[in-house]
Amino acid sequence: MQLKSKVSQLNRVGKTVEKQLNKLGIKTVRDLLLYYPFRYEDYSKVEKIANLEVGKQVTIKAEITKLSSRYNPRTRMVIVEAEVADDSGVCNLIWFGQRFIIKVLKTGDWVNFSGKVSVNKKGISLASPSYEKIRAGFSTAHTARIVPIYPLTYGISQKQLRFLVSQVVGESTNIADWLPDDILEKTGLMQLNEAISKIHFPVSENDIETAKKRLKFDELFILQLRAEMIRQSLKRQKASRIEFDKDVVKKFLEKLSFTLTDAQKIATWEIFQDMNKAEPMNRLLQGDVGAGKTVVAAICANSALEKGFQVIVMAPTEVLASQHYESFVSLFKDGKNNVCLYTRSKAEIHNDNNIGHLSTLVKKKNYIGEKIRKGELKIAIGTHALLSENLVFKNLGLVVVDEQQRFGVEQRRLIRQKNIYGLPDASVGMLDFQTKPAASRKSAHFLSMTATPIPRSLALTLYGDLDVSIIRGLPPGRKKIITRLVAKNDRTKAYDFIRGQVKQGRQIFVICPLVEITEDNILKFDQLDKKNVLDEYKKLSEKIFPDLKVAYMYGKMKPVEKSAIMEKMNKGEIDILVSTSVVEVGVDIPNASVMVIEDAERFGLAQLHQFRGRVGRSVYQSYCFLFTQHHFCVKNGAGFTENFSQKSQDRLKFFEKNNDGFKLAEFDLAQRGPGEVYGTAQSGIMNLKFASTRDIDLIKTARQLASGIDFSKYPSLKERVKEWESGMHLE
Ligand code: ADP
Ligand code: MG
Repeated sequence: MQLKSKVSQLNRVGKTVEKQLNKLGIKTVRDLLLYYPFRYEDYSKVEKIANLEVGKQVTIKAEITKLSSRYNPRTRMVIVEAEVADDSGVCNLIWFGQRFIIKVLKTGDWVNFSGKVSVNKKGISLASPSYEKIRAGFSTAHTARIVPIYPLTYGISQKQLRFLVSQVVGESTNIADWLPDDILEKTGLMQLNEAISKIHFPVSENDIETAKKRLKFDELFILQLRAEMIRQSLKRQKASRIEFDKDVVKKFLEKLSFTLTDAQKIATWEIFQDMNKAEPMNRLLQGDVGAGKTVVAAICANSALEKGFQVIVMAPTEVLASQHYESFVSLFKDGKNNVCLYTRSKAEIHNDNNIGHLSTLVKKKNYIGEKIRKGELKIAIGTHALLSENLVFKNLGLVVVDEQQRFGVEQRRLIRQKNIYGLPDASVGMLDFQTKPAASRKSAHFLSMTATPIPRSLALTLYGDLDVSIIRGLPPGRKKIITRLVAKNDRTKAYDFIRGQVKQGRQIFVICPLVEITEDNILKFDQLDKKNVLDEYKKLSEKIFPDLKVAYMYGKMKPVEKSAIMEKMNKGEIDILVSTSVVEVGVDIPNASVMVIEDAERFGLAQLHQFRGRVGRSVYQSYCFLFTQHHFCVKNGAGFTENFSQKSQDRLKFFEKNNDGFKLAEFDLAQRGPGEVYGTAQSGIMNLKFASTRDIDLIKTARQLASGIDFSKYPSLKERVKEWESGMHLE
């Protein structure tokens, strides 16, 4: 047998089992070895029945004295019951829905049973214990030891998989270590093959720990190497310097109706220092919702424009792009720089009469494209249409990407691919290594912005070390948004309050997790009772507020429809807007004072914080009301129903009391992990099975060893990163 042998060559692998294994991605012996358990049960000590303690995981060695099965019509399950005994006492066993057990076991058998001790009417018992018949001369792979538990799908059992792994574990000695000796030595960790064999069949807790540590390091080291490759490639790229010109900046600031906060000044200064270099800037500007990131970007854009460069400002949605267009027009209208808006459905140039006469969108887009190519049009604001529609810039100096975390996977791929700008890819969260930076072409400086704070530990894991500027706190004079988790019975009160706000001229947002209940999502167990936009709209507009102007909006509506709604909202022609999370990012309606969130427990805290940031953007005291459905349950892996309401209550209580986006992000990161907080696209890229953002020491070691590494000396490392990347793209 070899590492590359097919699993079908193993004992007891027929056509069916092979198919099941393939479903798990296991085709070869090597795949099987790299298919790791995700937890263990410690059955290493065999206990006497007389000594069993309730609540403990134990293994007993006992003889079956009685065995029977019956059907329970209520639960529609077969129940198998057994009585077993050793020389110290008697114990009851019970299995639910495992009718085959009656065929596998019989009275008189000596068996190892492992499970959790409980007490029922008949006395001490084990519920659904795993079992293994004791046959003379065979070691027991399943029970009397630390037992690995694998992530499995239906159709293949833990026992089967364990048996298969036990056949091949010896082969792990042939797995070559990808870490060069000198690096492995510096880490002080064990060899890869040793770690692999121990992760499957540990003899002690210590085995598990040390093996895991090695595998964690591997994951983290790959991420760090990748970040390092990007950093080194960026260093090799060239960019045009955009020098800091005090007078230019001063003149621009004088036009603003406010003065910058200290945090804004510092961030601006950091960006200027980057832009002043002959290599491309790759900086992330983080700042809470409403912290004033746009103006910082505008100051930098202005300086680039003054030096004759073109500037792109890109946003993830049409609504947001239009809003940026408005604010950039008002900031730059008296200058010599024309501003254009370019999205899938829109092409406009401010103050250009010619474009108004063009009859079709295509003609308008061509007109804009021509002006951009000639360098006559300096500021392009839009969505990723700016990337996908083959625009060529004459002299691009700065690219600003707002709400970078909201760009979808496909859009990120585009940004990565489009070398027309020489965009450094890391800027959009997806780290991708450009092997061939165009030597002669200059790259634009890149500034991405996000209101979703990335805690330091996560940033370090994801990006190695990303250049980050942070605007903490909000501009002075803002009123704190009053947040309330509203009890079910107080719904009417909340609606009365909302009516009062509308009477005073304010506007209201209502957020629901779903657009509508369709046949498609009704089948998904957990979507049944989610609030949806269309039903909620109907309820509010017909029953609760028939006298008010209620409207709705969701992501898949036509862009023109969405823009029309936002325009009406802007003009105050809508009192209450029911919507999905499309309003989450950046939308600016200063007159809105109440944010209602239905099924609030369905959203991450960072996202809730974004919603909340849609109100409180002017002088009016603003409010955020959270509604929940306390009864909701989810199925856990074991098929049991689990009620999460306590945990979500705690989260929402924390949200009620905290207004700092960073605190919220850290809370959610600790409670729910990066996948939930930042979406699977961003955390999926980490592909971490063992490591987490909490392994700070290992992250640091990995970072240190990757930093400044000479890849030409270690071609195998480069290979490994590429291999890892191609694996990523398959998903
Ligand atoms: P975000 O960081 O969420 O993108 P914006 O840039 O949209 O926030 O700014 C929110 C609002 O705060 C805008 O109306 C902007 O004009 C205003 N603003 C920005 N900086 C200041 C400041 N230093 N003082 C007062 N208002 C400011
Ligand atoms: Mg913004």
